Amino acid sequence: MTAPLRGGQPIVVRVALAERSYDIAIGRGLIASLGEKITALRPGAKAAIVTDATVAHHHLAAAQAALKSAGIGATAVTVPEGEGSKSFTWLQKVCEGLIAARIERGDLVIALGGGVIGDLAGFAAAVVRRGLDYVQVPTSLLAQVDSSVGGKTAIDTSHGKNLVGAFHQPILVVADTALLDTLSQREFRAGYAEVAKYGLLGDAAFFSWLESNWQDVFSGGPAREHAIATSCRMKAAIVARDERETGERALLNLGHTFGHAFEAAAGYSQRLLHGEAISLGMALAFEFSARRGLLPMAQATRACEHLAAVGLPTRVSQTPGGAPGIDRLMELIAQDKKVKRGKLTFILARGIGESFIENDVDPAEVRAFLNDKLAEGAPHGST
Ligand code: NAD
Repeated sequence: MTAPLRGGQPIVVRVALAERSYDIAIGRGLIASLGEKITALRPGAKAAIVTDATVAHHHLAAAQAALKSAGIGATAVTVPEGEGSKSFTWLQKVCEGLIAARIERGDLVIALGGGVIGDLAGFAAAVVRRGLDYVQVPTSLLAQVDSSVGGKTAIDTSHGKNLVGAFHQPILVVADTALLDTLSQREFRAGYAEVAKYGLLGDAAFFSWLESNWQDVFSGGPAREHAIATSCRMKAAIVARDERETGERALLNLGHTFGHAFEAAAGYSQRLLHGEAISLGMALAFEFSARRGLLPMAQATRACEHLAAVGLPTRVSQTPGGAPGIDRLMELIAQDKKVKRGKLTFILARGIGESFIENDVDPAEVRAFLNDKLAEGAPHGST
């Protein structure tokens, strides 16, 4: 854990990437200062807001009012909510919308929404007029602690998620923690899996703090801001050292190789949200690490118990609609991008806060482990 709790003052985390460096401003009510923050960075710039219908309903008027008070007129380009908008069809519509709004080089795209909007608007900003600046205004917990930071943008294709995209860093992230008050409890909880991930992967003291304070993070106030800022500091530090994921940034994929298999099996749908799949994936990564003798099983149990206390899934039997069969799971794991020369790459752990990249995992070992996990969840008498 890197900083004590503070109340009232916005917290600023710097993402240090030389000429692509930017600030993440975190605090309650910050959306009101969006216009003045933008004017300070790009005086005279026009803006277009990309958002989804649900976020627009709750927060578009506040964003537009904040921009207007700083003399910035902002057209809105609104897409349907959900992963389906990370598509070529909606990318085209957003690009056309930005061009129709006469957004030129020197102007700004504002991504107002969750990870779907950040990824879609960020990618549109990367390609329209060969690259426009953009500002992230993340409105989901997942987006505030993860997707709005680090410059990964993408849409999905029929072959899989995030397969067409670009690294394109925002010039500013404004994370107004009050916007999360309108997020559903389930979405908030799913985003919390990514918060817990930072503790599990690299900060044991933060994980302990979360065990004691998670209810305050859910209810809002300084604990929420502290959790978001601590998460952003860790992501910013990792991204600053490895912007393009040639090494250490892969640690952020803790829980993703197992998790993606379950998420894909559920069709990337509301049945299993991304964060829920990551929770299950992290539980499996810790149990698999313990089975390999890397850490005592008690530590894996502790990791799982915290996730379960929050209401996140940690057992394969909790997969909605039933867990996929072992062959399907192994096929999905093998399709994951973290596979090299027949060996699987997993983020494993030597303890809470001590994750590392293991590139040499034998698929047969994973199969045996998952078979045991599937059997634990199977009704008595089944095979
Ligand atoms: P999302 O953007 O679909 O948002 C989840 C739901 O919450 C949506 O229905 C949205 O309309 C609603 N919502 C968002 N903010 C709200 C608010 N303040 N009030 C009420 N409703 C609100 O999903 P997400 O979980 O934020 O993000 C998931 C996406 O992020 C995935 O596409 C994933 O691939 C991507 N992602 C990207 C990165 C990255 O580094 N670029 C990292 C992690 C995840």
